[in-house]
Amino acid sequence: MTDFDGNLLEGLYKPTQESTLHGNLYRRYQNIGGIVHTHSPYAILVSLNFKELELVTMHAALKLKKPVKIIDVTTQAVTTEELPKIFAVMDQDPSTAAFILQGHGIVAMASNAVKAGQIAELIEETAQIFWNQKLFQKK
Ligand SMILES: [Zn+2]
Repeated sequence: MTDFDGNLLEGLYKPTQESTLHGNLYRRYQNIGGIVHTHSPYAILVSLNFKELELVTMHAALKLKKPVKIIDVTTQAVTTEELPKIFAVMDQDPSTAAFILQGHGIVAMASNAVKAGQIAELIEETAQIFWNQKLFQKK
């Protein structure tokens, strides 16, 4: 366990570099109570080829309300220098349920971790359908 600055509070191992992103999201957006980050393959595929993930299913449109933004972060983990790119998207709408780090993965946010996990699953499922639909349209 770390504090919002990534300092180890409990445990034996060095915290993940991704704690910078998580800590800063929790600190800046009080509505966030849980964050789930995944390296989901279809979301990554979509992020490498599109600017946003369109909500192609009824369920995704109902739950997520607007396309999922893809943020181009050049480092492996989001560093302090790259946080403004994240804040630029989040400040527009602090109720944003998720974004995708280009070539990296999903960051889903909700009032708790279980709900954030459900959002991450929904995004990966939507990305899979979106990707296959785009392939089908090309034929
Ligand atoms: Zn990651």
